[in-house]
Amino acid sequence: MTARTVFLFGTWTLAPDQEPDAEPISYAMQCAVCGSSSDTSEDAAVGQRWTFQHVGRHPSHHTFRETITRPWRTWMQS
Ligand SMILES: [Zn+2]
Repeated sequence: MTARTVFLFGTWTLAPDQEPDAEPISYAMQCAVCGSSSDTSEDAAVGQRWTFQHVGRHPSHHTFRETITRPWRTWMQS
C-alpha cells in the first residue's frame, strides 16, 4: 500500500507507518442503529465483545460499523 505524487521540489511517498515508533493500529465498533460506540482499543476483540453486550441490551440493534485507525507516514525523495 503506497502512493506517490510529484511536486515541484520532489516526489512525496505515502505508506502505512510501520516504524517502531509508529502509533498503534486501533479498532472500535459503532452501532449503526443508535450510534453508540465501544472503547477504542489496539485489540479488535474488545469492540467485538462490546457488540454482544450491546445487542443484549438492545435486541433490535443488529448492524455495526468497525472503525480502524491506521497510522501513515509521508517522506520526500529529492
Ligand atoms: Zn445501538
